[in-house]
Amino acid sequence: MPDLTTPRAGAAGADLMVLVLGGTSEGFDLARALTREPAARVVSSLAGRTANPRLPIGEVRIGGFGGADGLAAYLRSTGVGMVIDATHPFAATMGGNAEEGCRQAGVPLLRLERPAWRPIAGDNWTEVDDWDEAANAVGKLSQRVLLAVGRRELAAFAALDHVWFLVRSVDPPNPVPAFRQAELLLARGPFALDDERRLLAGHRIDTILCRNSGGSAADAKLVAARELGIRVVIRRRPPRPAGLPRVSSVSEAILWVRSMCGR
Ligand code: NAP
Repeated sequence: MPDLTTPRAGAAGADLMVLVLGGTSEGFDLARALTREPAARVVSSLAGRTANPRLPIGEVRIGGFGGADGLAAYLRSTGVGMVIDATHPFAATMGGNAEEGCRQAGVPLLRLERPAWRPIAGDNWTEVDDWDEAANAVGKLSQRVLLAVGRRELAAFAALDHVWFLVRSVDPPNPVPAFRQAELLLARGPFALDDERRLLAGHRIDTILCRNSGGSAADAKLVAARELGIRVVIRRRPPRPAGLPRVSSVSEAILWVRSMCGR
């Protein structure tokens, strides 16, 4: 069994190479924080899904590794000493590959994941595990829905002919599923609470359909839904590999890096 509690040593005198699996704001912030750490060299990895990604400070590589085996080969050939998986909570394939690839290469792995949102008094949430369950929940009770789920995840809702959808997306869906009643709203968050209140009331939305992306701050659309008595159908996060060290903030991730280096 490889020892996953000590970083793999680089060449004598070389800085410790830390690979950040990113594509998130916390991956971005972590890369910046790591550049201030002595004797560390940070490389951020992005999937390459967006045309103009916000590039983190430091070295950046873009594109998939070719599964867990490809990641293990990359780790061995580049001499990465530790990996921090800061990918989005819904990027579960990369999470599984990170665990398997690091295990194969004998490289320690930390998961950095923003806290999930939790319902509080006044919320009317239906939590679901997949989009079919969500479509079923919406189909029974909803008439006017804000669909805020990502442009590649719309298909499950297109058959709900009796529901009117406000489809909010950063980029235009391609292809656009054949909705009977829908309007497309191209917009990039974060959204202000006042704007969310106006949007929901103005379109007479009765249900918000979204994912539990989470974050340290409350999400404005969920706060507005609570105030206005709007139902929320929210998808739970997919499971991640169990048993990995896990933190929820950049500062905790930095402490982990230091502790792994004996500082
Ligand atoms: P995913 O389904 O977990 O991963 C699919 C494949 O994309 C992986 O097998 C891997 O390809 C490649 N990949 C993913 N993240 C990568 C990274 N940071 N560096 C290099 N390759 C990566 O991921 P996804 O949901 O498509 O998300 C892709 C990226 O967008 C992630 O980095 C994530 O942090 C970011 N993001 C995702 C969401 C979301 O809602 N899913 C939202 C915001 C940002 P190989 O198998 O070839 O290595």
